[in-house]
Amino acid sequence: MSRYISIKTDLPQNYQQLQRALGRVGYFRRGTLLKRFMPCGKPGCACQASPPRLHGPYYQWTRKVEGKTVTVRLTREQADLLAVWIDAGREMDRIIAQMEQMSLRATDRLLKRLPSPTRKTPTTRTRGKRASPG
Ligand SMILES: [Zn+2]
Repeated sequence: MSRYISIKTDLPQNYQQLQRALGRVGYFRRGTLLKRFMPCGKPGCACQASPPRLHGPYYQWTRKVEGKTVTVRLTREQADLLAVWIDAGREMDRIIAQMEQMSLRATDRLLKRLPSPTRKTPTTRTRGKRASPG
């Protein structure tokens, strides 16, 4: 591999910008923040009236854990904080998606500077005549 090290793999400016942007991403969380209004089910409660006056808002953070949806109840203050972390997670995803696209193009160009594998498939004439190990 070391003979290929002379290939220039300097990162372009815009890629470095993405790297820096990624470095600025702080704590993050995945999942969805929900703000819900719900009935309580108590007879005669305003939430049972027509039109109903539902209870809430209730804040919930839901996410998938090993294929199952997990819900955590939050206060308004907690939800505000979580919204920031969820935004950070999305920002990170956007940056990484751009980096991946640029990386794919750039590494493709680098690979094409090297000789391609020959089209001829190697013959299997070593059958029954294997080189002895060691
Ligand atoms: Zn109620």
